[in-house]
Amino acid sequence: MHFRNLNLTAPVYFLTLICACCFFLSGEIPVAEAQCCIPSFENQIETEHFVLSWTNASSHEADNINDPQVVKETAGYLETAWEKLSRLFGRAPYVPPGSSKVAVIFHDLDCYAYADPPEGPIELNSRVWMKMPSIRQSTSAHELFHKLQYAYGYKTRWRPGEPILWFTEGTAAWAEVFVWGRVTRDCKMENMFTNTGIDLFDAEDMALPFWIFFVSGNSVAPRDQLMVELFERCEEKKWDVKKALFDVIRDAYGSADSFFFRFALARRSCFWRDPGAQSTIYTQILGPGNKDLVAEIKEYQRLRTSAAGALN
Ligand SMILES: [Zn+2]
Repeated sequence: MHFRNLNLTAPVYFLTLICACCFFLSGEIPVAEAQCCIPSFENQIETEHFVLSWTNASSHEADNINDPQVVKETAGYLETAWEKLSRLFGRAPYVPPGSSKVAVIFHDLDCYAYADPPEGPIELNSRVWMKMPSIRQSTSAHELFHKLQYAYGYKTRWRPGEPILWFTEGTAAWAEVFVWGRVTRDCKMENMFTNTGIDLFDAEDMALPFWIFFVSGNSVAPRDQLMVELFERCEEKKWDVKKALFDVIRDAYGSADSFFFRFALARRSCFWRDPGAQSTIYTQILGPGNKDLVAEIKEYQRLRTSAAGALN
């Protein structure tokens, strides 16, 4: 990975960056030097819940946003995500003590975006933002969902001892779908089906189909409220997320073992059952190139099932 003007050999602080892209960046980066990557911002707009800052004067061209309308549009996406998420959860995303709004900055990054640490701004990749308008909505919801995770105590009150990206990134990917019916990368929807050997707990943001299954988004009556119960349970269990998840599954669906078994079966065939009886949220999920990923997976599973039948 490449950081401009960074001396990566000087280990001072450990900085973990949570990304909405394929790879998570982590490394020992001196904070004082990391700040050198952030340009100064001569432009700012404020909305009800956000303060967005950007530049069009950076000597590093990729930092620049030369169309203020792009920032205004992004502010609208963030406010929409705030409204939909806080309405479902009954709780607002995390705003650091001493602030009344979430800061959002645009500059050149090595991934689409990140929102870590909790008290830091949401950082959006200005280069990608200008080149790929189709990821703006989904990325806005994804990063804001990390702020909602912080509001439930993740990293603000408890730090799980082991990586839980299947949970934190997987549920942030679910938020992309819940808010916009879109994902930033096709693989978040595809990989669990095309490679049924991927372990859920290793899947990171490609765990998304599990979270759709968890809220019954693939069946007649989605139960998005279960996501709220899950985060409330996480808070109760001090972010022992597996314990929280198994409790919610048991209360909602019965045996956790049989729930995971049914998910494994659904990954192989018929994940989406009755095409006429689904919630509109989960009926069509678009990738960044506007591919209908629900239709693609239905067709993929249909072909695989009929190929397996022909062999029998
Ligand atoms: Zn993320």
